[in-house]
Amino acid sequence: RIAYVNGRYLPHAKAAVHIEDRGYQFADGVYEVVPVHKGILVDEELHLDRLERSLRELRIAMPMGREALKLISREVMRRNHLNNGFLYMQMTRGVAPRDHKFPAAAKPAVVMTVRQMKPASKEKLEAGVPVITLPDIRWARRDIKSVSLLPNCLAKQQAHEAGAVEAWMVDGDGYVTEGTSTNAWIVTADNVLVTRSATHDILNGITRIALLDRVAAEGVTFEERPFTVEEALNAKEAFITSSTNYVMPVTEIDGRAIGNGHPGLLTMKLRDAYVAHIEGGEGT
Ligand code: PMP
Repeated sequence: RIAYVNGRYLPHAKAAVHIEDRGYQFADGVYEVVPVHKGILVDEELHLDRLERSLRELRIAMPMGREALKLISREVMRRNHLNNGFLYMQMTRGVAPRDHKFPAAAKPAVVMTVRQMKPASKEKLEAGVPVITLPDIRWARRDIKSVSLLPNCLAKQQAHEAGAVEAWMVDGDGYVTEGTSTNAWIVTADNVLVTRSATHDILNGITRIALLDRVAAEGVTFEERPFTVEEALNAKEAFITSSTNYVMPVTEIDGRAIGNGHPGLLTMKLRDAYVAHIEGGEGT
């Protein structure tokens, strides 16, 4: 495997960043995960929009232009013969002697890797996945795709230990924010699709954005608003979205079956619509 690190293509095992990189010391950086389907970067422009926004919010200079980033992405994919999986891009404020204040002259560090991955199996899709709910202990700017993911890791580990695949995090008012690496959705008893609106409280998933486009086109009734754990437990359907999961049915929350305990009809229709979008290769 080949990785891109600060201007060089290196064997994965030899690819390293400096110990005084601010990403390592302060989690002072951002990242993107772009799905790759049949050699095409899915919704690439939307991912690059979000990357630029994350950098801007943290006042990290864009290390290179979009076209250069796109060229490097393709080169990393080519060198790794990647057809299906995802591209990981990370940018930090760079290397500087440890000091909380921004360094006067650090050069942003750029890392890119790819990973091969198969879409979820038919069996997994037909079973759906269990999630648990946990308090959301993260900071107030979850809209920034920062590499500071410790609360997410702790929650995901707790989910794993409980036999679940995701944790839905719950804010101080009892409303679900999102999953540790996914956005959270429910379908109410009267067939209204609900997901939290994209404020500073959640990461605005690219899968979320792409799916909302499809939802509007398909004439599905939807509301962008917060929902409680109680409302989720009483929902007819539930699912999660992300670049690596696409649309994944949730069939159990905190040990209680959602709807009839099987993936919902609307959920699977939306998954099909999202897969069709990916197949359409509108990504580039
Ligand atoms: N929320 C969080 C906290 C995430 O980490 C992710 C995945 N990066 C998402 C939502 C889903 O975003 P996307 O659809 O862009 O993968």
